[in-house]
Amino acid sequence: MNLKDQLQDSVFQTVAQVAKEQGLETYVVGGYVRDLLLKRESKDIDFVCVGSGITLAKAVQKKLGRNLPLSVFKNFGTAMIKNGEQELEFVGARKESYDRNSRKPVVEDGTLEDDQNRRDFTINALAISLNEADYGELVDPFDGVQDLKEKLIKTPLAPETTFSDDPLRMMRAIRFASQLNFDIDADTYEGISKMKDRISIVSAERIIVELNKIILSKKPSYGFKLLFHSGLLKIIFPELVKLQGVDSIDDKSHKDNFYHTLQVLDNISENTDKLYLRWAAIMHDIAKPATKRFNKKVGWTFHGHEDKGARMTPKIFRRLKLPLGESMRYVQKLVRLHLRPIALVKDEITDSAVRRLLFEAGDDVEDLMTLCRADITSKNNHKVKRFLQNFNKVERKMREVEEKDKIRNFQPVITGQMIMETFDLKPGRTIGDIKEALKEAVLDGVIKNEFEEAYNYMIEMGREKGLTVVKTLK
Ligand code: ATP
Ligand code: MG
Repeated sequence: MNLKDQLQDSVFQTVAQVAKEQGLETYVVGGYVRDLLLKRESKDIDFVCVGSGITLAKAVQKKLGRNLPLSVFKNFGTAMIKNGEQELEFVGARKESYDRNSRKPVVEDGTLEDDQNRRDFTINALAISLNEADYGELVDPFDGVQDLKEKLIKTPLAPETTFSDDPLRMMRAIRFASQLNFDIDADTYEGISKMKDRISIVSAERIIVELNKIILSKKPSYGFKLLFHSGLLKIIFPELVKLQGVDSIDDKSHKDNFYHTLQVLDNISENTDKLYLRWAAIMHDIAKPATKRFNKKVGWTFHGHEDKGARMTPKIFRRLKLPLGESMRYVQKLVRLHLRPIALVKDEITDSAVRRLLFEAGDDVEDLMTLCRADITSKNNHKVKRFLQNFNKVERKMREVEEKDKIRNFQPVITGQMIMETFDLKPGRTIGDIKEALKEAVLDGVIKNEFEEAYNYMIEMGREKGLTVVKTLK
């Protein structure tokens, strides 16, 4: 097969020319070739040459001009040119052999064939020649094109060898299946089930990259089910596996919270590409096993699972090497608040309850509503419709209250400094108490969050506390 006409990017001509000048046999390889044949968009391009990838990269950089940024990773024998949004990766063809007792491969220079042998899947081992004699010709030693047609993820060598050499490939197999909506070849899948325990030698940093790609795929439940059935999920994310199963007592059973969570994740994925909103869906019921109780009258309950889930989030994020700053706090907040809009529906919707939710959710309130809608997994269409209408009502009410009271980005109009000056106070507890009481009064609708009303309220409170006004601020 010749793909000359499909190598549209001018960079291929440039690399081919440099390869000729340097006398280096060179190919496009891996993900770019796969995606080209799948007609999938892909920005980054990997080049492999028989010889030094670094030498080739330096010469290509010179030829491209414009002084594009070049990074050289001497230890790995690779180099990368940043061409705007695009990353051009250069590597010398190599042969890898693995020693059972060591995690690091022995790497030697090799031929194109050696290099293709060390790649993870048949569809990732495709190469296109950039050499003058056969420019554009596809080199496909493992029938990768056939597997692309059959939508199959399959290792080029015996699965156990491939997975034992680098156990991360088990995660990658499932990641590609989920991203591309491919099946995993039966022997390959069996290899994963057999070798799953080897995943423990892989760093959490490498694992989370693949897990996040599964989460960002169009239907993440597919990847999670593969992780679950192969046994990998229990090793990397046991808390999620704990959600699986149904208990029954006296004919009362609860839903399977694992499959429910996956459904919520799929639902939310239809409405957002935000990674951490998807993570909030994964985490929203994580504390259900820990809070599960049986009550003879009402059946199964999970009281407090939202708070407990929020408290579990940092530990899980730390272990999975997810970020612990703003993104984690965002997930925590959504987990903690995920029942609140439902509670609003149940009671008569009061302004003050709406103000409190707006205050706590702040700018994440839309995302919270997206999560709540995704959380509806009932199969009863009437119920679903009623729930959605209720949420619409809650949102209408939120808009009304927000327009009136501007609670979302609540900034107190009375500062601690003002309180100190008015009553001649030193920093201390009284100031915090007054500020808190002012905030409560605003949220309860006793006063508006504007200077006049808040100021008068402060003076009144000072009097109650026996403080004297030493300075008037209005
Ligand atoms: P994408 O970049 O879209 O996620 P990709 O296939 O380009 O997919 P990369 O991680 O960028 O994936 O790797 C580029 C190529 O390097 C792969 O196509 C594959 O040939 C090879 N490769 C990457 N990681 C491994 C690995 N762990 N074992 C074997 N080969 C690998
Ligand atoms: Mg890539």
